[in-house]
Amino acid sequence: MLSKDTGVCIRTVDYSETSQIVTFFTKSTGKINAIAKGSKRPRSAFDGPIEMFSYGEIVFSDPTKEKLVILTEFQQHGFTGLTNNLFAFNCCLFAAELLSKLTDDYDPHPGLFDNFFQFLRDINDKRETRDEGRETLQLLILFQLNLLSEIGLMPVLNACANCKTSSMLDARCSSLVPRPSSIVYFSSSANGLICRDCEASFSDKIKLSPSGASCLINLKQVAQASERTLKEIEKILISHFTGLLGHRPKMVKHILKSSDKRPK
Ligand SMILES: [Zn+2]
Repeated sequence: MLSKDTGVCIRTVDYSETSQIVTFFTKSTGKINAIAKGSKRPRSAFDGPIEMFSYGEIVFSDPTKEKLVILTEFQQHGFTGLTNNLFAFNCCLFAAELLSKLTDDYDPHPGLFDNFFQFLRDINDKRETRDEGRETLQLLILFQLNLLSEIGLMPVLNACANCKTSSMLDARCSSLVPRPSSIVYFSSSANGLICRDCEASFSDKIKLSPSGASCLINLKQVAQASERTLKEIEKILISHFTGLLGHRPKMVKHILKSSDKRPK
């Protein structure tokens, strides 16, 4: 029995001279690992080796929760612009790494699939704009927040995650903003923002700048944030993903390095 789904390739490993093992993030089945027999042969059934981020309809052997299904059909479509910009491509690889590590096999997240696909499409389409470093970072941050929300691990950003006080927020404002004098921290182990009274208990806390705190408390501000603030938010998210995974994601070194080195 065969199954059909829409998938994006988020990992490829050479299995033999001629075959690959490919991880797909699919819309209805979730993450699956498939063996693509003969994919590296010149006239393979998949139009050549399966490339990272290629997408389309896939047909595979019945997923009765097998660790490895057999890929029987996949007509690859690709995002041709992703490899033109190293930083943008690294951000896509980072998103794929997080998706791969933080979702379970056969656990479908159709909303997250759509969001990931749109993220790749937006990065692919934005390659010509001058502001691409900032915009790419912004897209990565929004994807990461969506990922955390979809898998039920969204940090607490509207109060102190430890004592639940919202005293660091300015109650006079209709939208959430930090009180001008307050100092706000983020702690991955606390799973969110931490107030001044609680910060001493969390050794992994990171002190936020006023604009960083404001942006995290009111995520709508991500759209207008400066590149500097976005870098601060990304560092916070990286510390959070590191805490959740128990290790630093592999792609992190390329994200912080390449965004810092990008010419102004
Ligand atoms: Zn507190």
